[in-house]
Amino acid sequence: MTTIETTPMTIGGRAYLAADGATIDTINPATSEVIGRLPAASKVDVDHAVEAASRAFETWRRYTPQARAAALNAYADVIAAHADELVDLDVAENGTPIREMRRDGQKAVNQLRYYANIILEARGQTISGEFDRLNYTIQQPYGVVGRIIPFNHPLMFAASKIAAPLAAGNTILLKPSENTSLSALRLGELSRGVLPDGVLNVITGYGADAGDAIVRHPAIRRLAFIGSAATGRAIQAAAASVNVKNVSLELGGKNPLVIFPDADLDNAVRASIRGMNFTWQGQSCGSTSRLLIHRDLYAPFLDRLAAGLEGLTSGLPALEESQIGSIISPEQFEKVKGYIALGKDEGGRLLSGGNVLTDGDFAAGMFVRPTVFADVNPGSRLAREEIFGPVLAAMPFDSYDDAITIANSVGYGLTASVFTQDLGTAHSFARDVEAGYVWVNEVSRHVEGTAFGGVKDSGIGRDEGIEELYSYSQSKNVHVNFS
Ligand code: NAD
Repeated sequence: MTTIETTPMTIGGRAYLAADGATIDTINPATSEVIGRLPAASKVDVDHAVEAASRAFETWRRYTPQARAAALNAYADVIAAHADELVDLDVAENGTPIREMRRDGQKAVNQLRYYANIILEARGQTISGEFDRLNYTIQQPYGVVGRIIPFNHPLMFAASKIAAPLAAGNTILLKPSENTSLSALRLGELSRGVLPDGVLNVITGYGADAGDAIVRHPAIRRLAFIGSAATGRAIQAAAASVNVKNVSLELGGKNPLVIFPDADLDNAVRASIRGMNFTWQGQSCGSTSRLLIHRDLYAPFLDRLAAGLEGLTSGLPALEESQIGSIISPEQFEKVKGYIALGKDEGGRLLSGGNVLTDGDFAAGMFVRPTVFADVNPGSRLAREEIFGPVLAAMPFDSYDDAITIANSVGYGLTASVFTQDLGTAHSFARDVEAGYVWVNEVSRHVEGTAFGGVKDSGIGRDEGIEELYSYSQSKNVHVNFS
């Protein structure tokens, strides 16, 4: 029997296991094989990492912005050179097909370079006032930042979400999901000797232990979380119980895709498949998982949608031809199956999928075929709750007002998409829909420099644009009397 080594964390530029030796086995969800072992950190490890990050901050904050940019670009080069290896780790641990995961590797590198490029844009201001006085502001980093990320884009989030905080002059504790930590641990190893020791510290473990210790650490005043709304609210409460912290939250969604009768039908059908991110098994926060179709095209639209889904190939994630892989974990698998049963109980009409593949290659994994329920009641749980799986809820609407009422009737407000040829309908929708990111005749695409984030229960704050860079610094006003 081969022994599986524990991949160490990176703290202060050095390799560490958890102080108490605790570990977590990590599983390939498509095969159920144990493929690695990671440290299960606890408070003592987090305290150690915060000390290392605090020491490093004293050096890192004295770097010129140009020197920070050079370090981030050098790190991006190293990641690009190891992209295949990092992507393979994600494919094995996350269950998403390799053709999708490769794009994540590229995005990770691009985001690092983007923040390196705009480092000088985080400027202060001068404010005119009395003749012999001057007010100016300076943007200053927080110090040690806690960054907690989810399982669905492991490498992309691990690499890209450290970019803005580091560019702004902070140091970091990064905690990946306990389901997908291998690429982040490798990123930690790759940072040694490229970033100054202690600037990036990678801590692994369970949310309730390692994650909670980061959230409650009194020296961490800036926390950034990506994950579920339930965890986000728990983090807000835990953080507030310690001291005053700036907490940004990128949470879940139940995002509407609204098809008006003048939409290009073929284009809209393709978008409804792409927008649902079936190729990520529906495990993407921006997925348009509520499909609102005008009654005039409801029946033909659904026919084409069902036909389009038949063509998607489920397969082992490492195979080039696979388009749909495995659900991440047994817990998430049970949740998805539970919602499929609920959809039937709530009176939805199962249009497509709803089944689990169990033969041959699929026997040891968690492969759910793309599932669509039609005639879903907008008030039902299937229409209101985030499933984070390959289950799409379709429903008809009769008028613009009807569509907006349904679209805005849920607690979430992350993304929204509208398909129409009418300029007035498109811009009215963009204005009226409660969401942080809206597509017109488009789905899913993120463009570098545009800000991503949610309203209502989908979160606080914006990532991916210049706002993210600013969010990692605080403005200080300096009032000078030179009379
Ligand atoms: P999750 O909330 O279960 O876990 C996310 C991270 O939080 C993990 O690293 C976990 O270990 C940690 N965590 C859990 N409990 C914690 C606690 N009490 N204190 C501190 N940390 C804790 O989410 P998940 O299942 O990994 O990811 C799926 C969710 O993420 C979905 O809801 C999805 O919509 C959301 N998401 C949002 C965005 C966005 O940009 N808005 C992007 C991707 C995913």
